[in-house]
Amino acid sequence: MWTGWADPVHHSQADGPAPQPAVLPGVYVHIPFCRTKCTYSAFVSGDFDESLAARYLPALEREIRAAGEAARRPHVDSVFFGGGTPSLLPAGELVRLVEVVRESFDVARDAEVTVEMNPGTLTPEKLAAYREGGVNRASVGVQSFDNAELEAIGRVHDADDARAAVRMLRDAGFDNFSLDLIAGLPLQRIETWRRNLESAIALEPDHLSLYLLELHPGTKLARDVEAGRVVRPDDDVAATMYDEMVDRLTEAGFVQYEISNFARTMPGGGDRRSRHNEKYWLDAEYFGFGVSAHGYVNGERRSNVRSIAGYADAIEATGDATHERIRLDARDRAAEAAFLGLRRLAGIDLARFEERYGINLMQAFAEGLDPLLEAGLLDPSDGRLRLTRSGLLLSNEVFQAFV
Ligand code: SF4
Repeated sequence: MWTGWADPVHHSQADGPAPQPAVLPGVYVHIPFCRTKCTYSAFVSGDFDESLAARYLPALEREIRAAGEAARRPHVDSVFFGGGTPSLLPAGELVRLVEVVRESFDVARDAEVTVEMNPGTLTPEKLAAYREGGVNRASVGVQSFDNAELEAIGRVHDADDARAAVRMLRDAGFDNFSLDLIAGLPLQRIETWRRNLESAIALEPDHLSLYLLELHPGTKLARDVEAGRVVRPDDDVAATMYDEMVDRLTEAGFVQYEISNFARTMPGGGDRRSRHNEKYWLDAEYFGFGVSAHGYVNGERRSNVRSIAGYADAIEATGDATHERIRLDARDRAAEAAFLGLRRLAGIDLARFEERYGINLMQAFAEGLDPLLEAGLLDPSDGRLRLTRSGLLLSNEVFQAFV
């Protein structure tokens, strides 16, 4: 679920020198159903509707099979079911989709298979079926452990549901799960944010995604804030929340590997970062299926239509629900790779960047980058370009250098 301290990945793009995928592609599958609409949500989702699901799921299956066949069953090592609320689907339906992906793609034996789950939609039986079906990672949309905050954004679960979800996950044998929290919620104060963070740490997740609430035009929350009916923490408070969060999570044994993402470090080395999500920031390839889904394959970005019924109509009629295909020239492609890559704390290896995109990043974007270097928002040491701590907070401004 993308809201961010910085803009989420904006999909558009790409051409230029042939990309050399450094990592294997992934598969993203969008399940657009939710129990009710949260007030802040700009995701393509609608209330669960059985008759629509009865059209949507076969369409999805058809789209996945056709793409796998067209690409001659390519090798992939991550599969991600996002939404919406994928865990709202009956277990058998979701497991069937996992099988369809396996039949259509050569899914690595150790592939990361993630399902986004919302508290209040899980049962032991459902989770057992997921495990059995090959799901090995859960991403749980907790958002807050404060019931008043949850209510203020229209979430249908409470803090106890979130804790129960984690217990159920562990009982079902999930040993890799992530929790999502949102900072800057209506009613939130620095104290309640600290408590949220401590509640999350206490559950010993493998991964945390911590986003700053963004107001998306057209959402109920955006209208309420504009009309003064809802007040949310100001930018200074949000900055303090971010700063404290980075320090506290580092102390608690997490490594920050992206602006909003933290992975537990493992005793034997390595960490629990999301293999799938890293593909977006590494400018790697991925197939995207379902309404509004984006894909990036063979240097082409494509996205599907944004209405659930429209998606089903298009697939039923022609087998194709593409809304847009975009190829960018070499410079735009490099620009996009740069701002995606800068989201990672490891930053960008400048020599490898030039090798891959045929562009010297520091020279090609000097006009935008120089003031940022001077302002201390970027650190160009060791042959890499990285956001500094203050750059992490102002990353949206930094990314303007590439626009
Ligand atoms: S559960 Fe997630 S996708 Fe569904 S309405 Fe809420 S925020 Fe949007």
